[in-house]
Amino acid sequence: MELNDLEDLLQRNIEWATSQKDKDSEFFVTTSKEQKPKYCWIGCSDSRVSPSQILDLPPGNIFVHRNIANQVNANDTNCLSVLEYAIYFLEVKHIIVCGHTGCGGVESSFKKQSSKFINLWIDNILQLSIDHKRDLDTLNCTTERVDRLSELNILSQIVNLGDLNLVKDAWTRNIDLSLHGWIYSLSDGLLHDLTGKVSSLNDLTIIRSLCAPQISGD
Ligand code: ZN
Repeated sequence: MELNDLEDLLQRNIEWATSQKDKDSEFFVTTSKEQKPKYCWIGCSDSRVSPSQILDLPPGNIFVHRNIANQVNANDTNCLSVLEYAIYFLEVKHIIVCGHTGCGGVESSFKKQSSKFINLWIDNILQLSIDHKRDLDTLNCTTERVDRLSELNILSQIVNLGDLNLVKDAWTRNIDLSLHGWIYSLSDGLLHDLTGKVSSLNDLTIIRSLCAPQISGD
């Protein structure tokens, strides 16, 4: 499908809004009153991995934060404010960190690029690729290495998430909150669960061990 200009986008919006009302005449009345999503999604900005679309969900179901290579950074007030609102105001029960195969952000860590801001942003993925160099070097090609590093990145972001006071405090207060690390396959459109349900510091310890730096001689 080729979209020629912004008029096409606006026309598609009119058609979408009309079809929603045709299916449910109260749809916009209901959704304009409040949102009650059960899920918070931290995903990559990649245009091919739009959560509502790949989960086939209508508006109102997922509270979303996206950035390049689905990072959870304790210094990122954008991400932290989304998480704070999701956990303590919307009271979501599940936070999903979803990466994907063929991630350009992850692949950037294997390349020497002059991009200032992307290099800064993916600095910890670069470190992850150094920490797991021996494991990654056993793989056959760049595609496999990028996808393995994407998995390690997702595990690492789950650890970063569980290490946030926002999440630890929720667990201390016995708030029902679980973390989930998923990867989306661009080749077949399917999601794969990498972590199972992570809902305690004990669960987090297991995930931490799965992405811990390889020690020489291991
Ligand atoms: Zn990506």
